Amino acid sequence: MSRLTMDNGIVLPPGEDGVPTDPGHCYDRVPRLLGAGVPSIAQRTLSRRQVLRGGLALAAGVAVLGPRRVLADALQERTRWAFLSDTHIDSDPDDRYRGFHPYRNLQEVTGQIGYDLPDGLVITGDLARLKGQTAAYQNLKTLLGPVIEKRPTYLGLGNHDMREHFLQIFADRADTPEAVENKHVTAANAGPVRLVVLDTLFHVNRLAGLLGWRQLAWLETFLQRCDDRPTILFLHHTPRTGLLDSSELFDIVGRTGKVKAVVYGHSHVCGFSQYQGVHLINLPATGYNLQGGEPVGWVEAKLTGRDGEFILHCVGGSTDLDGRTTKLRWRA
Ligand SMILES: [Zn+2]
Repeated sequence: MSRLTMDNGIVLPPGEDGVPTDPGHCYDRVPRLLGAGVPSIAQRTLSRRQVLRGGLALAAGVAVLGPRRVLADALQERTRWAFLSDTHIDSDPDDRYRGFHPYRNLQEVTGQIGYDLPDGLVITGDLARLKGQTAAYQNLKTLLGPVIEKRPTYLGLGNHDMREHFLQIFADRADTPEAVENKHVTAANAGPVRLVVLDTLFHVNRLAGLLGWRQLAWLETFLQRCDDRPTILFLHHTPRTGLLDSSELFDIVGRTGKVKAVVYGHSHVCGFSQYQGVHLINLPATGYNLQGGEPVGWVEAKLTGRDGEFILHCVGGSTDLDGRTTKLRWRA
């Protein structure tokens, strides 16, 4: 069986008619492993030209927003992303909470991001305020418009999101069927790293989060089949304390060395810690803080195959740590 080895050492198994398939798109057999009732994932075969161009990112689920052709090149050594969480956009653009104005905060943040566009954007849920009204997602779409038009954008869901309303507004950007039934999961190879955005939304407007067995099974298979590039998981809920099946998640993470970091929001607290050698990165909220001493803003991430550099940008709350850079080395 012939195989194609790319310049960067990636070995591509041949697809139909010898055309290489995307090495990162290794979840095509997941539906069979998960059993009946799980919708199949569209298998996408890239043309040889597309593969050689290096644009290897593919979504596992609904809606990678924005033009994927600008996703970090597979041969690129570093990729730069904007990580946000808890934007809490309301149906009323003038909504304020705890003295913060989430709509204006996100306007300011997208302005900062747009000034020097990164390779892409991830938001780890609680996109909307409270119950995820359709008009809130319309407002979010408007605010993110300038970024979505130019860069791939991955939106995760939190406990203040409503999956159906979210999909109503963003479905026109959907390009693949869902990977996990009733969950919004996306994955992409972004140059030297892989990004996987999971869905921990369990009950709208209640605190606890849940991945669920189908998503966990999908994740385990996905991680088994993907290449060895460092993988970062994104989810809304705080691992260990806010996620009901956190131990099941870390059982899976523990069985592979591929996952180097878990990025999340939910607490509206900014912080870095470690669990079982995996970096836990708690993003600040963009909408508002829940404690006066916490920053409100976003994180600029510079990622390589060996490490990550995380720069805090504040637009409100405590701005003492504005510009602080945290460097993390990936576990072996
Ligand atoms: Zn929140």
